[in-house]
Amino acid sequence: MTDIIQLLPDHVANQIAAGEVVQRPASVVKELLENAIDAEATEIKLIIKNAGKTLVQVIDNGKGMSVTDARLSFERHATSKIKSAEDLFQLNTKGFRGEALASIAAIAHVSLKTKRSSDELGTSIEIEGSTVKSQDVSVTPTGTSVAVKNLFFNIPARRNFLKSDTVELRHITDEFHRVALAHPNIGFAFYHNGSELFNLPNENYRQRVVHIFGAKTNEKLVPVEEETEVLKISGFVGKPEYSKKTRSEQFFFVNNRFIKSPYLNHSISAAFEGLLKDGYHASYFLNLTVDPKTIDINIHPTKTEIKFDDEHTLYAILRSAVKHSLGQFNIAPILDFEHQSSLNTPYKYKDKTVTAPIIDVNRGFNPFSDNTDVGNKINRTSFTKAPTASWESLYVGLESKGNASDTEFSEVTFESDTKTESIFEDASIETTKTTFQLQQKYIVSTLKSGMLIIDQNRAHQRVLYENFLKHITIKEATSQQLLFPLQLHFTPNEIHIIDGLKSDLEHTGFVFSELSEDGITITGLPVGVPESEVSIILEQLISDVENDVPDANFSSTDLLAKSMAKSLAIKNGQSLNNTEQEHLVNSLFACKEPNVSPTNRPTFITMAVNDIEKKFV
Ligand code: ADP
Ligand code: MG
Repeated sequence: MTDIIQLLPDHVANQIAAGEVVQRPASVVKELLENAIDAEATEIKLIIKNAGKTLVQVIDNGKGMSVTDARLSFERHATSKIKSAEDLFQLNTKGFRGEALASIAAIAHVSLKTKRSSDELGTSIEIEGSTVKSQDVSVTPTGTSVAVKNLFFNIPARRNFLKSDTVELRHITDEFHRVALAHPNIGFAFYHNGSELFNLPNENYRQRVVHIFGAKTNEKLVPVEEETEVLKISGFVGKPEYSKKTRSEQFFFVNNRFIKSPYLNHSISAAFEGLLKDGYHASYFLNLTVDPKTIDINIHPTKTEIKFDDEHTLYAILRSAVKHSLGQFNIAPILDFEHQSSLNTPYKYKDKTVTAPIIDVNRGFNPFSDNTDVGNKINRTSFTKAPTASWESLYVGLESKGNASDTEFSEVTFESDTKTESIFEDASIETTKTTFQLQQKYIVSTLKSGMLIIDQNRAHQRVLYENFLKHITIKEATSQQLLFPLQLHFTPNEIHIIDGLKSDLEHTGFVFSELSEDGITITGLPVGVPESEVSIILEQLISDVENDVPDANFSSTDLLAKSMAKSLAIKNGQSLNNTEQEHLVNSLFACKEPNVSPTNRPTFITMAVNDIEKKFV
């Protein structure tokens, strides 16, 4: 008997591979868009005819290819993106399998035009069913254009299998959304049968989401930001009342790649627990950044499923970050969070000679210090309703409207307002008496030399942080006693973490009457911490501890102060009246390090008149 095993000819192997990579026109769209992104394009055009059955074309202004590369790009396993198997674990590109172009060329008519910026002339190649029909020198702009015509021309069964134009176009649009959402900094245009469906400029993430899903989307987005050693999260979740019956607005991107993950999706559902009606799904647009070493993308030909080394941790972090954002949102309706790029001035206060204001405030003044302001104590025994200054909310961080027991406990009398009046009188920052709030996010004031813009959330974090730190280190804090003990349930591991921080927590004003396996009972809270916030604060704290890998610099005190400041600080979107604004400004400049938030981000920027003048040139 003769041997019967043969090696398949290349064009057959390519067709088989194509079956995996190219299921429908949308798959071609995905592969071509990804190639354009890998080529570092900044502008990408997608042109479709008859839902991709007649034409899928992608034109980019990326780096283009040399003559040899252009030819090689259609060979199977021909890729410029990885060189060895190790590279699979540090992928920064979308592609790496070197299969897409070869597969597509096996089942369609493909014309490629490409030119590098360093070359005078480009290359054009025509391929039909893996056979090169022509290769020419060609005049073409820098970048690459790949046109894929008559998809599945040589596999009628597949062609017949395609759905209606409406359905295929929807698949294409879905792919386009995914790629465009993952890359807001790239401009995309999308045409179908000659009409423009999308034209997305280079923009920020919020703008991109709104551009794609419509202007009404803007008001429903709640920002989610979290940064830990293993995972960075940024993006948005939809407010619960805007949840949808479909899952059409659920997007996870891992290192800028759209992925499907039922497991991580579950963590979002868990965070929304109790907030959604039956059968409704939360919207989310979340970008996760992880070390490429900790994921495996190579488990699925279309690369939409990936494997994480430590899914459980990601699950927990994600859930807690989303929960936290929702918590914040419930307290303070959010108007607009996103850093508006129009507010980003090129002015960097650090590098300027006109520089940050010299803060010559009354250093002795400390609104938190017990000896300078005798009134800064809660009247614990009588709970009398002392006249409440509206800026008290600056101290409590959160307004607890409509909660009787909370208001009772926030009757705190501070003496500091008489003192703060004088702060700017002898200070060299001469603010006008009037400050105003911008976008319910910034407090704007004038300086002799220009303008001062304070980030209200970061500024308040700084104020609270120094306050907590002081209380913890001097081991003395006033606490407000609760009429009814507060019982909270946590997992044993969480209880363990709280136990470890117990004495620090007590120094901020927490009083624990019980800390056992089943849960904790709290009978006293730090002054100004509303009861309704306690579980959010503790959950935040637990997740901060879990995510902060203890090292030599680890300080639980610092972490606690940071975490509480983060939980309690005035949120963006909270409107402040003038007294509150001025009080915050004064408290900030009474801090030891007013320039930065506890996480080292600038609390304010200044803009010199010179710079403003320059803008008018
Ligand atoms: P992969 O993207 O997995 O490397 P492809 O078959 O999609 O495989 O592409 C093969 C190669 O062709 C790429 O590695 C890249 O070098 C080149 N290439 C493909 N598309 C473009 C493009 N739009 N611009 C520049 N180079 C491209
Ligand atoms: Mg590719």
